[in-house]
Amino acid sequence: MTARIIDGKALAQKVRARIADDVARLKAEHDVRPGLAAVLVGEDPASQVYVGMKHRATEEAGMLSRQLVLPADTSQRDLEALVADLNADDAIDGILVQLPLPDHLDPQPVQELIDPTKDVDALNPYTAGRLAIGDPTFLSCTPYGVLQLLAEAGVETAGAHVVVVGRSNLVGRPLSVMLTLKGRDATVTLAHSRTADLAAVCRTADVIVAAVGRIGLITADMVRPGATVIDVGTNRGEDGRLVGDVDFAGVREVAGAITPVPGGVGPMTVTMLLQNTLEAARLRRGLPRN
Ligand code: NAP
Repeated sequence: MTARIIDGKALAQKVRARIADDVARLKAEHDVRPGLAAVLVGEDPASQVYVGMKHRATEEAGMLSRQLVLPADTSQRDLEALVADLNADDAIDGILVQLPLPDHLDPQPVQELIDPTKDVDALNPYTAGRLAIGDPTFLSCTPYGVLQLLAEAGVETAGAHVVVVGRSNLVGRPLSVMLTLKGRDATVTLAHSRTADLAAVCRTADVIVAAVGRIGLITADMVRPGATVIDVGTNRGEDGRLVGDVDFAGVREVAGAITPVPGGVGPMTVTMLLQNTLEAARLRRGLPRN
């Protein structure tokens, strides 16, 4: 069996076109233009690339994009003062603070300060708590993208056994909660570096989501024939090329469906940031989410 490729690039284009239409309608009907502020502290090259990508995508969707670049020696107090200003700024519906921050800055109080109604990156503990009690506000962007990819591929999560590998607060943990919410109804195993016999655990999965950051961690012998494999990992191979956590060439011969890297989860992450910003703009004005 050769797996069907789940094309995240094509899905992202489709969803972004729909978001752009919704933004145009919001402007025409309510004179509202959603606004996203991205805060970047310092000159980390990868962060500059990510913030640049988010900026372009936001503008292409017809939204206001504001990039705030602060010097690497910015104090905790000044960063928090900027977030407080953005909380009070009515033109801004979504705030994201690009991670990682320079070592002298503590991200936790900054994230706790972001107004929950503008927390489009979903990293405020309040937002995580709302998800944990089954009443989510915003869904963190990468796991939200994974859910869209599964839906697009026609993968039924209800009753399925999903093994999520990786328990970070950014990806694995929130995804595991999202999949168990009523309506998605998956049975989830959340695996991590201390999981005993990861291969055996993975072989019981209808769906495997790899979110670890280790090249070639998921190999063909770990995948039940016909299972769906979603690769969140983004690693640089020895040749500098972007590769995931899944041994793509081997696993595609066993799996039923698989996401590539690049062109799988990556394009969906920025797309769901746009979706969250659109939703924030609507909710903040008392309009329904969609
Ligand atoms: P992270 O915070 O470093 O977490 C990695 C997780 O993997 C941890 O829970 C860790 O377990 C687990 N782990 C490490 N080695 C393992 C092993 N041998 N077997 C099983 N589990 C293992 O990473 P992250 O932020 O979640 O990111 C994960 C990957 O996704 C990275 O490659 C990152 O670049 C990528 N990513 C991609 C996107 C995208 O848009 N495509 C977005 C975000 C992240 P412990 O908790 O036990 O240490």
